[in-house]
Amino acid sequence: MSQSEPPVYRLNLPRLLALILQVLPLRRAETWSRDRIRAHQDRELVRLRQHAYAHSPFYQRFHKGLERRPLHELPVLTKKELMQSWDEIVTDRSLRLEDVQRFLERVQGFEPYQGTHYAYATGGTTGVKGVTVYSEKELLRIFAMTSRTTRWAGMPFSLRERPRLAIVQSLLPWHVAGGAVFIRLPLVKTLPLDTTEPLPQLVQKLNDFQPHVLGGFAGNIQLLAQEQLAGRLRIAPRTVTTTAETLKKEAREQIEAAWGIEPFDAYGSTETAVAASECQEHRGLHVYEDVVILEVVDEDNRPVPPGTFGKKVLATVLWNYTLPLIRYELSDHLKLASEPCPCGRTFQLIEEIEGREEQVIFLDGASGEPVRIEPDLFFDHMVLLPIDGWQVVQERKDAITFLVLRPHAEFKKTEFLQRIGNELEKLGARRPTLRVERTSELRRTKLGKLITIQALRTEDRR
Ligand SMILES: [Zn+2]
Repeated sequence: MSQSEPPVYRLNLPRLLALILQVLPLRRAETWSRDRIRAHQDRELVRLRQHAYAHSPFYQRFHKGLERRPLHELPVLTKKELMQSWDEIVTDRSLRLEDVQRFLERVQGFEPYQGTHYAYATGGTTGVKGVTVYSEKELLRIFAMTSRTTRWAGMPFSLRERPRLAIVQSLLPWHVAGGAVFIRLPLVKTLPLDTTEPLPQLVQKLNDFQPHVLGGFAGNIQLLAQEQLAGRLRIAPRTVTTTAETLKKEAREQIEAAWGIEPFDAYGSTETAVAASECQEHRGLHVYEDVVILEVVDEDNRPVPPGTFGKKVLATVLWNYTLPLIRYELSDHLKLASEPCPCGRTFQLIEEIEGREEQVIFLDGASGEPVRIEPDLFFDHMVLLPIDGWQVVQERKDAITFLVLRPHAEFKKTEFLQRIGNELEKLGARRPTLRVERTSELRRTKLGKLITIQALRTEDRR
């Protein structure tokens, strides 16, 4: 038997109409007054909670006695709890985690689970693999939210010229970004590129395709910007969008230098889908407050004022009735802006997203106490080095490897290691074994993501 094409999701006319019905209210909500947004959130939250209390045995137990309490008094749902109680959290008793996981292991393209639902897993950089599930209506809601992201980024859609869209991301169908590759949109020509492909091959394909829009994981887009600056990549995208990883200032500058345009960053997770994105002002990312509530909080789940970084985010997803997520804990560090955006959109702005908690490296202090090394320490040192790229990998509790991509002649290894070692000691850490590894290719995760700082997972630390 010849191998058949993986199943794709075609946005046919009935689906397109259903999508438009979801897009229009999202568009209207963007300029509501703050009061109206809050009233809308309150109403949507009541509906979601009523549904959860009626159909989810987990929430009946988890929120027992708190059914009428305000959101900020409800317990926090961790990823571990979500995965342990998954079968009871879902509101459809025919969905079972074990079956969905088995399905995800063999899924080929864009295939519905049991013909009714769509499921995705997270890459598991935090060590716990999350699985999320939606109905088809909810899937269309995600498309509607994504169309907001692209509309704000000013994607060039014209009927005269079919826009060419190149996306560099995971092509694994169980990954939410990978799944998107199997969607067939009318009027758009898409070139899906796998992040695990060798860079020269990606460059060649992009040179042939000449995309109008280039999108993908931030780390990969940054590498492509460097290729453009080096003269090997020769494309002229009109829009560049980034997702999935924190877009550092350095990457933003390189993208601007390469193509003369500012990238549009988006923020989200497998569980929330896209939850915030940039507008043309590039002052930060507007939270999609009509579909999600993001609470920026400290370690003890107390709200953090605008202008200050939180230690985590509690997400309440207002559109997923299949797997309700109420105060779901994400380890991202966000800082909300204190000023409204001049673009006229009333949704709150995320001014800055800090490296994810997974990028924080823990070392032992003089008496064995954990010492926290913020990602910024490495960014500050590595950015100035005469090298083409870098990665920090914590191999063991007391060993860190610096991968340096194509170091230039003036790179001084011993001096660099000495400096980093001193910095770590200044922070109270016992000096770990530090080494430099010269490389012509950076390490990628199974998903093809380039993780700049790879800390040991929590469970490996002790
Ligand atoms: Zn704005």
